[in-house]
Amino acid sequence: MTDPLKPGQTIGILGGGQLGRMLAMAAARLGFHVHVFEPGAAPPASEVAQKTYSADYSDASALDAFAEAVDVVTYEFENVPTEALDRIEAKVPIRPNRRALAVSQDRLEEKSFLNEIGLTTAAFAPVHCGATDAAGELAQGLVDVGLPAILKTRRFGYDGKGQARIKDAHGAPAALDAMKEADAVLEGFVSFKREISVIAARGITGQIACFEPGENHHRDGILQTTKVPAAISPELRERAFGIAGTLLAALDYVGVIGVELFEVDDSLMVNEFAPRVHNSGHWTEAGAVIDQFEQHIRAIAGWPLVDPVRHSNVEMTNLIGDDLDLAPGISGETGARLQIYGKAEARPGRKMGHVTRVLGPASGR
Ligand code: AMP
Repeated sequence: MTDPLKPGQTIGILGGGQLGRMLAMAAARLGFHVHVFEPGAAPPASEVAQKTYSADYSDASALDAFAEAVDVVTYEFENVPTEALDRIEAKVPIRPNRRALAVSQDRLEEKSFLNEIGLTTAAFAPVHCGATDAAGELAQGLVDVGLPAILKTRRFGYDGKGQARIKDAHGAPAALDAMKEADAVLEGFVSFKREISVIAARGITGQIACFEPGENHHRDGILQTTKVPAAISPELRERAFGIAGTLLAALDYVGVIGVELFEVDDSLMVNEFAPRVHNSGHWTEAGAVIDQFEQHIRAIAGWPLVDPVRHSNVEMTNLIGDDLDLAPGISGETGARLQIYGKAEARPGRKMGHVTRVLGPASGR
């Protein structure tokens, strides 16, 4: 399909979490129907979608039925098995493409790819934690990348899970144990000044549009706040846009991407990218003329992108676990935009919603 989608056509979303929910709401605003495919129970996106396929990603007949009923497929979840994408892609286009997802699923492939296209990352080395010489490989890796370092599982890590820090050589055995024999990548520890991220989009014609970089703060490995604009120099801001553009073009990407960056001295290193809308882009709902969700829907529908002009300085705060109890109080604040994800149970560490507070008119642009 190269023609733009028309209102009344249907977008399929793989994954039914909060990102899918917010994508579905943006799609509805533009007149599209949404079908969600999600193996888990009670997906937040289902409440705002026309139809949900409640099946495993290995269920071929459910995947076929889903693919046949929609006009384009996107994903809000990085760990969709690529075999499921192959099956869907035989029937309907997937945007962003399969390669972007496959590269981002594997930290080793991701870092190698970023270096190949000329982007800087932390020094890294592969470690096969289940191999008989895993300890030797890790010891050599520590020589290569230096100490301190972080050992991360290649796959399925998120919010700081599947990671172990190594302060000195004595810490190596415990870090190896923590990987539970999974293949891993060892990274040199970066003493960054700031963590920032840039949310960017590429349209079907190759048009690129970048949102203002935001500054991220984490608590217990989970994103806590994103403040926009990030307190970075104009040169680094341009560099962040350049990095996003290089990555989007190299992946022949269509849709929104989230690129996490470390500020080190006077330069930027790429930590990782997410081939989807990103938690650190939620601020766009209250701070810019278009939000990341609508920009993504526009891109995958083959519509023109909107220049994402920022009109306000903002701070987005995640409501995690019991933070949800703060929502009624926040709801009375002027200039505070709330999103509650509709999850049944507020478990510790679970993202339940977020609030974006408008701090004032846009400065620093
Ligand atoms: P990740 O899952 O790769 O995004 O890592 C989660 C968090 O751990 C990041 O947001 C950083 O705060 C921190 N982190 C990850 N990799 C490194 C590194 N190589 N050096 C220093 N901090 C890191």
